Amino acid sequence: MPQKETIIVFGAHSDDFVIGAGGTIAQYTQEKKKVLCIVFSYGEKSHVWLQQKIIKKVREKEAIKAGKILRCRVRFFDLREGHFAEDFEKQGLEQELLKLLEKEKPTKLFIHSFEDPHPDHKACHRMVLQLLEALQNQQRPELYTYSVWNPVSFKTQCPALYVNVTKTFSKKLKALQAFRSQRLHIVYPFFLLLFRAVINGWKIRTLFAERFFRIR
Ligand SMILES: [Zn+2]
Repeated sequence: MPQKETIIVFGAHSDDFVIGAGGTIAQYTQEKKKVLCIVFSYGEKSHVWLQQKIIKKVREKEAIKAGKILRCRVRFFDLREGHFAEDFEKQGLEQELLKLLEKEKPTKLFIHSFEDPHPDHKACHRMVLQLLEALQNQQRPELYTYSVWNPVSFKTQCPALYVNVTKTFSKKLKALQAFRSQRLHIVYPFFLLLFRAVINGWKIRTLFAERFFRIR
């Protein structure tokens, strides 16, 4: 039997893959593709009212629950916020992720946009580029960026990929509700996602769509 097409989504924090590509992930898994989400950090520092250890458990549980809704697998790494590059090297993640890429042979990778102002998102972007540079003896996957804190892209001149998520947009919203500890509904207004999905949908004449830019 031929191997299922595999897609990997990289995100700095536990909720980024859902905000950036949740509808697309659900759409791909519905098309029987395999989607794996890599979360680089538990983001334990950003929390004021829970202890670090508990936060890690909570974040992992929430992300796995969201992953179940979108039907993707979620894997965590333990990079400290603000120290991504340093910990990436210290923990030998490059080798580990290279092995993963060699095993899974993904056709597409999704990462944060370089226009995203969050420093950890930027670091995540750079780390995956570096990873691809190190990837040898294998065809390089297509590389796409998604948006979290950069709702509008001014500088991106790269070709856009629009994915029709009309059938799966409700799953994205449901998956976002799994992140209760993040108080996402306060931090990240859902109407913004809705607005963006409608605008992107209009571009390809569907109700809802997600847009990505192909940078490689
Ligand atoms: Zn994030």
